Amino acid sequence: MNAKWLSFLIFLLPLPLIFWQITTQDNGFAFWNVVTVSFGAIAYSYLCFILFLGTRPRWIKYEVAQKFHRVLPILAIAAILLHSQTEEFVNNPHGLHGAGGYGELSQNVFLIMGGLSILFLATKWLRYTPSIVQKFMKMFSFIRYDWMKWVHHLQIFGIIFMAIHVILVNIAYNTPMTAVPYIVYFGVALVFYIPFLLKKFARRNATVASVTALSSVMYELKLHMNSKKHAQLGQAAWIRINGMEHPFTIADVNDDEVTIIFKKVGPFTKKMAQLQSGDRLYMTKGYGKLPKFEKPTIYIAGGSGIAVAMSYIKAWSKNPTQPFHLYWSVRKSDELVYDRYFRQLQQTIPNFYYTPYVTQEGLCERLTYKELEQNLYLEQAQCFICASAKASFAFERMLHKVQADDVHAENF
Ligand SMILES: Cc1cc2nc3c(=O)[nH]c(=O)nc-3n(C[C@H](O)[C@H](O)[C@H](O)COP(=O)(O)OP(=O)(O)OC[C@H]3O[C@@H](n4cnc5c(N)ncnc54)[C@H](O)[C@@H]3O)c2cc1C
Repeated sequence: MNAKWLSFLIFLLPLPLIFWQITTQDNGFAFWNVVTVSFGAIAYSYLCFILFLGTRPRWIKYEVAQKFHRVLPILAIAAILLHSQTEEFVNNPHGLHGAGGYGELSQNVFLIMGGLSILFLATKWLRYTPSIVQKFMKMFSFIRYDWMKWVHHLQIFGIIFMAIHVILVNIAYNTPMTAVPYIVYFGVALVFYIPFLLKKFARRNATVASVTALSSVMYELKLHMNSKKHAQLGQAAWIRINGMEHPFTIADVNDDEVTIIFKKVGPFTKKMAQLQSGDRLYMTKGYGKLPKFEKPTIYIAGGSGIAVAMSYIKAWSKNPTQPFHLYWSVRKSDELVYDRYFRQLQQTIPNFYYTPYVTQEGLCERLTYKELEQNLYLEQAQCFICASAKASFAFERMLHKVQADDVHAENF
């Protein structure tokens, strides 16, 4: 499902709750009641949906689901605040104080969780702040991404408090039936969420075949998968070591052996670099799929973004009828770990074009839109970008400047 359809689904989501609540409640159509019920239903349905999105549903593109998983909490928190403000204009019957308490509790959980997530999980915004803010935030670098992800799961309590709030409100209104769809929404989210959480304790299904250092920071990990049903070429899969789970792209597959190319950037990838052959770990199923190569492909990779590009090249090279142009930009020349491989590929497959850039050494060359403009296939090409958030944004702008319209960007 793409972003448009998902937005439409999200728009529909609160409507049954609003309709049910105002039609089953006495005086339900009173103006302020409709307003406060609507904000409440928006917040509640979005929160249930956020829980569901967190389970990586396969029918929604991972990058799309992730974007909504980040944006929806902001809308939900805004709706909670508006709900609690507008509730004051509603002529409440007696006995709501208990319910109100749970609502407030829920609101506080989400405000705290939202704040912590913005500070420690959604950290990419920090790159655009003044250096003093970045320096200040560095003081908290001992707080690991993985710890925060576990803390993040505590949001479930916020939703539980909200469900209790809704049930108590409806009991107070003498319309307990009204609570039924709210319970159903939460129940459905839990049906997906609980098995997802339990899978985090699943047994190890992969054995390390080898870990090879390609440079001081780039590594190649080969895993032997114990079952036939494993992630496929180009898919993202989560690797779990000691309860911590991180996403990586399957760069190559050979029967039951999968290859992952990774860059050592933090605690988890350091641990991966220290794996020994014979060590066992868990890898989730794969998510996403490769594009078709029925038209020319332009791939712009920045640094370790080459991991994803490699999977595309492996798939494309099985039937290279259309051209493939890889632009690979790295900071230092020792990061060009597949330089020889790509040069050889250029010799053996005439449709393959390769242009490397080293931005902080030698001639300090950078990809420019002028160079892109000269690409003969630009007009018909599908363009992909995989780089850091900042580089990805710059490459995307360049592609739009040269009128490329089929552009897909990913960053990590
Ligand atoms: C779909 C996808 C595919 C990826 N494929 C590859 C790949 O093939 N090769 C590769 O080198 N890297 C890949 N990455 C990035 C890789 O997941 C991170 O480099 C790794 O998680 C860093 O963990 P760390 O503890 O070593 O570093 P940290 O210092 O903890 O993290 C560095 C940054 O990585 C991101 N990150 C950390 N943990 C996670 C997580 N659990 N989920 C999402 N992002 C996280 C955050 O932006 C964080 O700021 C991919 C990321 C995604 C989202």
